[in-house]
Amino acid sequence: MGKRLCEDLQLVPSFPLERGLDFPLECGLDFPWSAALTNDRLDQLRGAAKAKRHNARTIAALTGNPGCSRRAVLDAAGVDKLGLADRLGFPGSFGQSRFALSRGNAFEAMLKADDCALLRSVLGADDAVGYQDLNADSLGDRHARTVRVLTDAQAALIDHPLLTLDVAGQTVYLEPDLVAYAHHGRLQVVEIKSFAIVDDQAESAKVSAAAVQAAVYVLALRELLERLGQDPALVSHEVVLVCPENFSLNPKAVVLDVRKQLSTLRRQLSRLSSVTALIEALPEGVSFDLALDPEQLITALRHIEPRYAPECLSACELSVYCRHEATGGTAALGRTVREALGGIETVTEVLDLAAGRREPSEEQTEAAALLRAALRLRTEALAATS
Ligand code: SF4
Repeated sequence: MGKRLCEDLQLVPSFPLERGLDFPLECGLDFPWSAALTNDRLDQLRGAAKAKRHNARTIAALTGNPGCSRRAVLDAAGVDKLGLADRLGFPGSFGQSRFALSRGNAFEAMLKADDCALLRSVLGADDAVGYQDLNADSLGDRHARTVRVLTDAQAALIDHPLLTLDVAGQTVYLEPDLVAYAHHGRLQVVEIKSFAIVDDQAESAKVSAAAVQAAVYVLALRELLERLGQDPALVSHEVVLVCPENFSLNPKAVVLDVRKQLSTLRRQLSRLSSVTALIEALPEGVSFDLALDPEQLITALRHIEPRYAPECLSACELSVYCRHEATGGTAALGRTVREALGGIETVTEVLDLAAGRREPSEEQTEAAALLRAALRLRTEALAATS
C-alpha cells in the first residue's frame, strides 16, 4: 500500500436517523433539461457509437485539468475515449482491475441486500427508515422519481438516484451508486468504496478521489434544491464513506468533510471553457467516429487543443496518446516545469538556452539565466564526483 495518511478521516460509529426530510419540495420538472448544444452536432462528432455518460469520476477528472479543451469536447460529445485511444494505437490500462470491480460490486451488493440491512446497521438507521431503490426505473423516470422521493418526508434511504449537473454549458446526468438520506433533517451523501480502511487509515489518494466524487454529488444535490427554490445548505457538506474494514468485508463508516473539494470543484467548473464555443469553432465535418481511419482521427484531434500533464496518466483514457503527442514539449514534464519555464515550449529550446547556443527572447531572459546556472552547477557537481 502506498501513502496511508488521511487526516480527514473521522470515525463515526453511528448515525441516528431521527426523522426524514422536513422541507417541502415541489416536483414537476421537465426531463431532460434543455441542452445548450444540438444533439445533431454532438452525434456527428461522436459518430455511430452510443454516447458514453459522464459520471462523478469523469467530472472530477475534467475539473482536474480544466484547461484541456480536447477532453471537454470529447466528453461533451460522449466519445468513447478508451475506444478512441485503442483505435489510435495508444491503448492504456485504465480504470479498476476486474478483481477490484468484482470486489466492489460484491461489497455494495452485500451492504444493500435485504433493503440495505447491513448499511442500516453501519449507519445506525433503524428499520422504520424508508428505503427506495430507483434502479428499476427508466432514466427519465429515475430523475423525476429522485425529485419526488426527495419531497417525501418518510423516504430516507434513496438508492440509485439520478442527479444532474451543469458542466461547461452541458447538462450531464449522474448516476451515483450511493444512498442519499436524511440525517437530522438534512440530506447526506453516502459513498460506498471497496478500498480498505486498515487501522483507521486508508490510502490518501483513494480517499481524496472518493471525496472529490462525493463533492460532485453534493454539488448536484445542492443545485437540484436551488432549482426547486429550496435552501441548498440542506445538503450536508459531510459525506459518509463506507469501506471494508481491515482485510475483511466488514463495513466501516467514516465521515469526510468535503467543503474544500466543493469550493475547488465550483471554481474549476466555472473556469471550464465553454464547450459550446469550442464545438462551434470546429470545422464542418470533424468527427471522432471510431469507424474512421486512425490518420483521420488524429487529424480531427489536432483541431482541439490538449493540455497534457503527467497527471493525465491516472485521469484520462487518452493519456498515452497525448503524452506521445506532447513528447519534446516542456508541458509534458508537468505543471511545475511548465510554470518555471514559462514561454519556453520545447526541451530542445531549454537545452539550447542552458548551453548558450540560443539568445533568449525578452520573456525568456529570467528562465534562461536560471537554466545556465543550473547547467553550470550540474557540470561542477559531475566534475567533482569524477
Ligand atoms: S490526456 Fe489528453 S485529452 Fe486527456 S486531459 Fe490530458 S491532454 Fe486532455
